[in-house]
Amino acid sequence: MKRLTLNKHISEDTLNIELIGNIDEDSDFSEIIGAQAGKINFNFSKVEMINSCGIREWIKFLDQVDSKQVNYENCPQIIIEQINMVHGFIRPGSKLLSFYAPYYCENCDKESKIHLRSDQIHDKKAPKVNCPYCGNEAEFDAIEASYFNFLGK
Ligand SMILES: [Zn+2]
Repeated sequence: MKRLTLNKHISEDTLNIELIGNIDEDSDFSEIIGAQAGKINFNFSKVEMINSCGIREWIKFLDQVDSKQVNYENCPQIIIEQINMVHGFIRPGSKLLSFYAPYYCENCDKESKIHLRSDQIHDKKAPKVNCPYCGNEAEFDAIEASYFNFLGK
């Protein structure tokens, strides 16, 4: 088990928080509760696992975040799935700026997680992406309407 670490760094009025490890019943967000920041950016790229207790802890923590603007960045697939399924995992008004999406390449039979910005998605359609291994066009490897559901929130 890899306990969650919060890596903080402040630039101007923004508090950047990198979450590293597992979000579960042992995750402790108390060090950032009540942080005074105009903006908070949560970077999820190094979250490896989240379970139902972790989801509960996260939502409880969000209730205590006092910031005008909250952004989510670099969300892996496991976080996108929670955002799509769990009411309250992202608060109304928060912005999801970027995330990873699953793609599959038939040419070399490899799966890859491609980093996308939310503004690259139009009408819940996956953008064209080249396979990072061979350069051929890769196919989006999930159901577009469900995976991009968060964009309508
Ligand atoms: Zn390929």
